[in-house]
Amino acid sequence: MNAHPQQIWTDWQAQQRAARISTADLLAEVGLSAADFPAGVLAAPDFPVSAPPHFRSLIRRGDPGDPLLRQVLARGEEALPQPGRLTDPLEEADYRAAPGLLRKYRSRALMIASGACAIHCRYCFRRHYDYGAAMLTRAGEAEALAAIAADPAIEEVILSGGDPLSLNDARLDGLVTAIAAVPHVGTLRLHSRTLMTIPDRVTPALIRLLTGTRLAVVIVAHSNHANEISADVAAALGRLRAAGVTLLNQSVLLAGVNDDAATIAAHARRIFAAGMLPYYMHLTDPVDGAAHFDVDEGRARLIEAELRGMLPGYLVPRFVREVPGRTAKTPLADLS
Ligand SMILES: *Cc1c(COP(=O)(O)O)cnc(C)c1O
Ligand code: SF4
Repeated sequence: MNAHPQQIWTDWQAQQRAARISTADLLAEVGLSAADFPAGVLAAPDFPVSAPPHFRSLIRRGDPGDPLLRQVLARGEEALPQPGRLTDPLEEADYRAAPGLLRKYRSRALMIASGACAIHCRYCFRRHYDYGAAMLTRAGEAEALAAIAADPAIEEVILSGGDPLSLNDARLDGLVTAIAAVPHVGTLRLHSRTLMTIPDRVTPALIRLLTGTRLAVVIVAHSNHANEISADVAAALGRLRAAGVTLLNQSVLLAGVNDDAATIAAHARRIFAAGMLPYYMHLTDPVDGAAHFDVDEGRARLIEAELRGMLPGYLVPRFVREVPGRTAKTPLADLS
C-alpha cells in the first residue's frame, strides 16, 4: 500500500522538505519497529534520517531487510570509532581549483553545485564533507566560471553535489547559461539522485531549461536497486529522453542491497527498459561510519564476472574504485 498518494505531492520542493523523518516514524511508516532488528543495531528512535515520500513509498512494508530501507536507515554503529576510515577518503580537498570547483580529471571539471540532497544515503562518501569550504557559493561562482573559461582543456562541466537538482530552476538556469557561454565547453553533465527520490522534479520548466541550451546534456542518475525504478521514475526518465538527454546510471556496490549478480542484472534490465544505460558500479570508499556496506574486491570480481555471463556487454556496469592521485577512476580489474 502506498502511504503517500502521489496526487498530494505535486510540489517537488514540498517533497524535499518532507524528506526528514525520525528513525521511529520511518519504521512505523513501513510497518516495523526497533524490535524487528537485532538489539543495538539501530540508531536512537529520535535520530533524524532523510528520504523523500516517493522513495519511502517504495520500501516494502514489514521487511527489515528491504534494500531501499537499508540505504537510509541509520545504525548505532555509525557513531562508533572505525579505525582506518576517513572523513575525506578521496582527498578531494587537494583538487580544489576554485571555490566549488574540483579539477581532478583533465577534460572535465566538477562543480559542487549544491550541498543539499533530498535523501541522505548512509553510505555516502560525502557525508562528512565540509561543504562550507567546498561548495559553490554565489560569491565564488564567478571565480569558478572564470577558472573554466581560462582552461580550454575543459570540455565538460559536471554539476554535482550534493545534488544539483535540489537547486531551484532559476539558480540552475543561471549556472547552465553561464557554462554555455564558455565556447570550449560542449557537454553539461548532472549527477543526480533526485530523479529516483522525487521524480516530480522533472517539471516542464526543467525540460525547457535542458532543451534550451546549446550544450549536449548528460544526466548520470544514481540508483542501486530495481525497486527504485517505479512507474513514476520511469515516466520522469521518459520525459528527459524525449528531450534528447542522454541517461546513464551509477550505483554503489552495497552489502545487503545489491551485492549479488541476479539483483544487479534485474536492476540493469529495469533501467534499460526505462531508457538508461548502466555506467559505473562504484566500490565503497573507506568513509567513516559506513563499513557495514563494504563488499570486498574479491567478491566484487566474482559478481562482475558472473554479470558478464548474464547480460549483454552494454548492460554490465563498469566496476571501479576511486584511488586518490589517479587521473581517472580505476577499473576493478586494474586494482592490485
Ligand atoms: C568521477 C569524477 C569525474 C567524472 O569522471 P568520469 O569518469 O568522466 O565519469 C570528474 N571529476 C571528479 C572530481 C570525479 O570524482
Ligand atoms: S544522493 Fe548522492 S551525494 Fe546525496 S547523500 Fe546520496 S550518495 Fe550522497
